[in-house]
Amino acid sequence: MQLFRPVRNMAPSNANPQMTLADTPDWTRFYVPEIHDIHPAMRDELAVMSAAWPAGALERCALLVVPFWMGEIALADHADFCAALAAMPGEKVLHGWTHTLGPDFWNWLFYGHDNRSEFARLSAGEARRRLSDGVAAMEDALGVRPRWFCAPRWQQSAAVAPLLQEAGFEGYMLRNEFVRFGAEPVPLPALCFDEGPRKAKAALLRRLRERTIDRLVRAGRPFRITLHPDDVNDAPTWDQVTRLMERLEREGWEPLSAEEAMARWQVLQGARQPA
Ligand SMILES: [Zn+2]
Repeated sequence: MQLFRPVRNMAPSNANPQMTLADTPDWTRFYVPEIHDIHPAMRDELAVMSAAWPAGALERCALLVVPFWMGEIALADHADFCAALAAMPGEKVLHGWTHTLGPDFWNWLFYGHDNRSEFARLSAGEARRRLSDGVAAMEDALGVRPRWFCAPRWQQSAAVAPLLQEAGFEGYMLRNEFVRFGAEPVPLPALCFDEGPRKAKAALLRRLRERTIDRLVRAGRPFRITLHPDDVNDAPTWDQVTRLMERLEREGWEPLSAEEAMARWQVLQGARQPA
């Protein structure tokens, strides 16, 4: 799997510090903050994750909401939580309907939980129903119609994209890119800390991730930081998250919202066209 596509750094060497970001397109040393799996039973973890970001990141954070978590916890039943979530400034993204397809032996074996790839193999009819229920639930509970969709585990079948377009979404998030309807996809890989509850596997992947993080930051490559509630509850993982946050802050990395990143990409594409 190719994690990154080579992208030429377009920053002029004599960039005027007074110029706006749009005037000095620069595809380097920024990150897009994301919090995944938001639902009413993870209020404590949401508070910890919200407080962990470097300055300026939380207001740019994509908030990926699951309206009916595990088919058990509905936004509609938790008005206080929804009021607090609605007051958060970040873009609210629809992140599935229940986030599960139910119990499954292979998922239990590899991940230690149910099959979380909710949109990987639904029929078009079932996917359409879950999307429209999800949109309606977010509109009712949060007062916002989601513009973006992110399938649980970034796995969506081919049937889903046309349904999203039909429902008025602007696009969807995949593991390595933002896909916009009617425009080029924007390459931005997601750094994910959540590998399920299997301890030995998580420890191995955490060591590998340490190297990935170091390579990313040294190279100045933009990426998305995707936090999950389980990250907070696993001490070594959360230590890795907070060390990354400190490093980005110390080294002056800039948080951009998904929309700001896409706008910057657009400017860059324009700058590349021959005059
Ligand atoms: Zn998720």
